[in-house]
Amino acid sequence: AGTETPLAIEDLRVSYGKVAALRGIDLRVGSGEIVSVIGPNGAGKTTLAETVSGFHGYEGSVRYYDTEVSTRSTSDLVSEGLIHCTEERDLFGHMSVADNLSLGTFRRGNADERRSFVYDLFPVLEERADQHARTMSGGEQQMLAIGRALMSSPDLLVLDEPTLGLAPVVLDDISDGLDRIQEAGVTILLCEQNVTFAMDHADRIALLENGEIVREGAPAELREDEYIHDVYLGG
Ligand code: ATP
Repeated sequence: AGTETPLAIEDLRVSYGKVAALRGIDLRVGSGEIVSVIGPNGAGKTTLAETVSGFHGYEGSVRYYDTEVSTRSTSDLVSEGLIHCTEERDLFGHMSVADNLSLGTFRRGNADERRSFVYDLFPVLEERADQHARTMSGGEQQMLAIGRALMSSPDLLVLDEPTLGLAPVVLDDISDGLDRIQEAGVTILLCEQNVTFAMDHADRIALLENGEIVREGAPAELREDEYIHDVYLGG
């Protein structure tokens, strides 16, 4: 019998040489949930996202459904539906938007259907299908990176700082997109420095500081938390 929990992290520790980046993290992401990990620069958000996706060795446990992540290659994890969107987006700049999307089709299934979903989600990608990815705006590139991830039909989507460097007006498009991705049944781990954005989308928030989760709860609870209010929501 399998577990239905997409992500269960227990006592996770990751170090870079002498630097302890994650110091005993416990975190669960239930099916269909958006859980957001917030925290300042250097807190360990990227390390956490990368570890979940199998990029780092670790101590403790990271389970993707029934699978201990360290027992699989990253390509196996992708074929099992664990899809990662990096902070750098990693698009192929000299290739068209449409070709970047096609490169996301790692899993078997109906690519045309998924492409229609992505174009419906972010219509600008269809309008600009033939444009080189590197000539797209920052916001459009972020939509493309998320769209490409969706082409692999994720069960768990790991998003590392999707709002990084984006203007507020562009955030609305990404926001609407995230809501619809969740409605489509995708579970999301959202590592995010923009606390307001995270609070607007997440079912639960974990605050990471210096490699440790120091607060965890629903956005409504954490908005009432004096420390979060003062330090992360500008008083
Ligand atoms: P940011 O929002 O600035 O990307 P973050 O919360 O994602 O920050 P990480 O990038 O995970 O934080 O970094 C956590 C800690 O690990 C930092 O102290 C960082 O300097 C350190 N670190 C990250 N990557 C490496 C690496 N490849 N080698 C050594 N130390 C690293």
